Amino acid sequence: MKLTFLGTRGYIETATPRHRRHSLLQVASAQTRVLIDCGEDWLGELASLRPDAIFLTHAHPDHAWGLQEGAPCPVFATAESWELLADYPLAERRTVLPREPVRFGNLTFEPFPLQHSIRAPAVGYRISEGEVSVFYAPDVVYIAERAEALQRCRLYIGDGATVRQSFVRKEGDQLFGHTPVMTQLTWCRKEGVAKMLVTHCGEEIVTGEEKGVLEEIAALARARQVEVEVAWDGMEVQL
Ligand SMILES: [Zn+2]
Ligand SMILES: [Zn+2]
Repeated sequence: MKLTFLGTRGYIETATPRHRRHSLLQVASAQTRVLIDCGEDWLGELASLRPDAIFLTHAHPDHAWGLQEGAPCPVFATAESWELLADYPLAERRTVLPREPVRFGNLTFEPFPLQHSIRAPAVGYRISEGEVSVFYAPDVVYIAERAEALQRCRLYIGDGATVRQSFVRKEGDQLFGHTPVMTQLTWCRKEGVAKMLVTHCGEEIVTGEEKGVLEEIAALARARQVEVEVAWDGMEVQL
């Protein structure tokens, strides 16, 4: 499979040439081209991307609001996301269920529930082609079934909203927000995933790339004996 990071920016105002557009991952294999998420700054761009399907992680503006004018293909999302997107003019709605893999061409997408938002519950996707798997979680506090989600993954593609500082908040007994890259690198170490790619970049990364933040992230990864790379808009990965 070939991954193309069409967008790597989180839900922030700042944009740079490396992180210009909201997080959007294109997964391609043979004749199939699938997009994951379509945030509001992708509005009007879908015709030129020509996807065969779109999978949504959750219904936040930076992940779903680019679908306000419809989509040229089936869209897969959870029942909770569909409730929030009820008014969207999407004819081909498909509902995904936790841990029920959806096959599309040679690719399989298995949704795993993530802690991230109370109002817009999120999933991450374990994406597989044959024996090759990666896990995509652009917005995440916690993966309840982390061992199953990450087992034998070549890559963990995670949330770059913050590097060290916790953006995790609590309402009642529910956690929401974003877990730092540092903690996600520890998950990789624990689950035997050799490499993390960081996407959904927040202010700290987007404004700090010239000022040493990449070196700081590299040091955090080295300490956990995993590899890391901060993805940028246009980056391609062949697996
Ligand atoms: Zn987001
Ligand atoms: Zn979100």
